[in-house]
Amino acid sequence: MAIVQELDPSVALTKEFHTNNGTTSAPIVTGKTVKKLYKHACAAKCCETRDSEHTNVKDEKNALTAKSASESIIHCHKLHHGDWVTVSFTQQGEDVKKIAAKALENYQDFDPDCEGWKFQPSYMPIVHRWDRLKEIQAKATEENGKQAADGLMNFLSPLLASSIDSLAKMKATKKISFSGIWQIFPPG
Ligand SMILES: [Zn+2]
Repeated sequence: MAIVQELDPSVALTKEFHTNNGTTSAPIVTGKTVKKLYKHACAAKCCETRDSEHTNVKDEKNALTAKSASESIIHCHKLHHGDWVTVSFTQQGEDVKKIAAKALENYQDFDPDCEGWKFQPSYMPIVHRWDRLKEIQAKATEENGKQAADGLMNFLSPLLASSIDSLAKMKATKKISFSGIWQIFPPG
């Protein structure tokens, strides 16, 4: 059992340990592991007070980056009128990057390498190359990228659904809304 040590700038807190039936029991220490936690309180009182493994935001951010380093895609959200909405997603995995690079090949004015593999709404380049992405997924084999292609498409499908749907409708009805012009005239 690890020891949880809560550090507060002013007060040293003693954590009570509860057993399953709710009665308080003394902490049982069987290991030598110590976890230090640091209490952060928002000065503006807009955020909930929380414990962190780090004393400052920069260290916390660096630790999160290190912890997320092996993930294929980093999907960033922000709170918008009570809902968590996508801000961007960044491709990190070499396997998914390879698929996207192939799909976006020679796409005018968009080089994923230059963009740091970061994609933001409305994901114009990906919408324009959606058919090519589907083609790559269909051709992928178990030995050659199928898992990555399926994973990428499962991730992208709900995210791009409305854009792909409106592009299809515009093509079908030949009606183009002003905001939809980019969808019907891909740059390359
Ligand atoms: Zn705050």
